[in-house]
Amino acid sequence: MKAEIINVGTELLLGSTLNTNAQFLSQRLAELGEEVYFHTVVGDNRGRLKDALNLALKRSQLIILTGGLGPTQDDLTKEVVCETLNLKLNLNKEVLNEIKRYFNKLHREMSENNIKQAYIPENSIVLKNDIGTAPGVLVNWNDKKIAILPGPPNEMKTMFNKYLSPLIKENYIIKSKTLKTIGISESTLELMIKDFIDSQTNPTIATYVKEGQVDVKITAKEENKENSDDLINDMVEKVEKRIGKYIYSYDDETIEEALYKILKDRGFKIAFCESCTGGLVSGRFTKIPGVSQVFDRGIVTYSNRAKVEELNVKEDTLRKYGAVSEETAIEMAEGLLKKSNVDIALSTTGIAGPDGGSEEKPVGLVYIGVATKEGSHAVKFTFPGNRISIQNRTATMVFDEGRK
Ligand code: ATP
Ligand code: MG
Repeated sequence: MKAEIINVGTELLLGSTLNTNAQFLSQRLAELGEEVYFHTVVGDNRGRLKDALNLALKRSQLIILTGGLGPTQDDLTKEVVCETLNLKLNLNKEVLNEIKRYFNKLHREMSENNIKQAYIPENSIVLKNDIGTAPGVLVNWNDKKIAILPGPPNEMKTMFNKYLSPLIKENYIIKSKTLKTIGISESTLELMIKDFIDSQTNPTIATYVKEGQVDVKITAKEENKENSDDLINDMVEKVEKRIGKYIYSYDDETIEEALYKILKDRGFKIAFCESCTGGLVSGRFTKIPGVSQVFDRGIVTYSNRAKVEELNVKEDTLRKYGAVSEETAIEMAEGLLKKSNVDIALSTTGIAGPDGGSEEKPVGLVYIGVATKEGSHAVKFTFPGNRISIQNRTATMVFDEGRK
């Protein structure tokens, strides 16, 4: 089904509000197998909204509008939709009672203006608003579906997920699985599964890259649940055979969560000492609930003095090889292992930039030290990107090294 999105609001045109509703809806519609062909942003203006809607009706089957459902004069989306489609706007008693209940619950006075929100286009489906006053509406008009959702992103998202998405996909089931990889570039990965990508129809395969990690998303669309499960599982198996060693987890699991699970299963404890990441590794790791079972400590040793005092790095090593070196990374990790008596200690030292790089040691050069009771080593990386991205990539690779 050809879909398009119309976001209503002068604040979007002025740039004072970022149009996150379009991003959310596009992502969700893609997941549902709908093809979004156009985004339109239009101000709170009757004539221009009508033009945008008329154009959309000529070229799309599914039109989703957001914004302009509020109680004020400038909120006119429902009115314009009804005018354009030649539908009546009727007062819906049930919706009015809902709005009254909403205000009662908050111990607030309902204003006269709010009654406007209880007017619903004839022959349409009311999409309840569980967290605000303005309900959404789904209008079935000829062979088209026109949905109107409120502007506030949290209301819009809740309503879309709970009420609209099941109505859109009523005819078939969409299932998807994401294979999350690390340590391989998107282009290399694509080459490894090129024949699957080239011949894809159902399921479809798409790759997404973010800061050194590549996700492979497999999506199947079927009328029957068992069929779509089979389609996905068959393709997952095929892709796993090719790229299995780069896969660290599935769907929403992050690399730090994957590491946490491994450590928990084995009953291992871990500790980090960080130079160029300044605490980011510990910060990301401690976002996981329950991590205290495996996480002993994280220390930031930014200066050379801190590396010597806290981790027993030899001054000689720092003088001879520099703070950003394989030798220092290893001594940092070894020092921490000894001090903390954990099963695995990891260190970071690198040049996050933008200054401080040289020909020999460019910005982006990072060493990650790994020390266990069996021995220690360091891994060298040269990351692209700005300071934040280099720090993020470093932290990600620390979790990856921890897993190995
Ligand atoms: P309200 O009852 O709050 O008036 P509404 O349906 O009329 O709801 P708007 O007035 O258009 O919605 O927007 C309400 C809030 O939601 C504003 O703060 C606005 O910045 C935000 N908003 C509206 N549209 C979008 C959008 N496309 N992306 C992100 N935020 C948005
Ligand atoms: Mg408004």
